[in-house]
Amino acid sequence: MQKTLNALIELQEIDLKLDRLNEERGDLPEIVKNLNIKIEKNEEALKEQKETLKKLRTEEKKIELDMESTHSLLKKYEEQLYQVKTNKEYDAIATETETAKNSINESENRILEITESLENLEASISELKKNRQSSQKELKESNEDLQAKINESSEEENILVQEKNIVRQILSKYNLSTYERIRGAKRGVAVAYCNGGICSGCFSFIPPQKVVEIKNMKKIYTCEYCGRILVWNQNEE
Ligand SMILES: [Zn+2]
Repeated sequence: MQKTLNALIELQEIDLKLDRLNEERGDLPEIVKNLNIKIEKNEEALKEQKETLKKLRTEEKKIELDMESTHSLLKKYEEQLYQVKTNKEYDAIATETETAKNSINESENRILEITESLENLEASISELKKNRQSSQKELKESNEDLQAKINESSEEENILVQEKNIVRQILSKYNLSTYERIRGAKRGVAVAYCNGGICSGCFSFIPPQKVVEIKNMKKIYTCEYCGRILVWNQNEE
């Protein structure tokens, strides 16, 4: 048991050192991650809007062609009107003319809509392209900063990770998962010291009987208040 407890103490110390190295890297890993997400979303939006733009231009072209043929139809109807002989014929051509005019009206309205959409899309696409450029520049800089910081501390980190792997092998799966769970819940500190009858994690009072038991290191005790694993402070006699 003493071996387990010592391994837990050592693991905690290594993890705190690793945490400190990560802290020195600061928000950079998060910034890099978020920038990548931002760039990806930007690309998706850009692709989508370019497709919409293409579709609208095709539609616009088609409507323009249709309008041209409707205009020539109208011209034809006008000529026919001079040649009609009966009221029935006249009414028929008048109806056709009305239909053609309505169709042109609708087409013109649609063209107006499309023109407005195209303008908005073009503005948005140029904005997205600008964003892409600035995000990529930002990403490049952040990546360089991060790499520099990683290089600075990578040797130390490698040694710590190796030490951590060795210590982890001493511990059972159960103890390891307990340690990780408490560490996750308690801001990185799973192992607390019994300092003069006080838990170093939450500064709560530890009953004297428990202090004696903790000192014997025969069992894993946890703090009643904060739930951290309590170990004897070796410097204290
Ligand atoms: Zn505590």
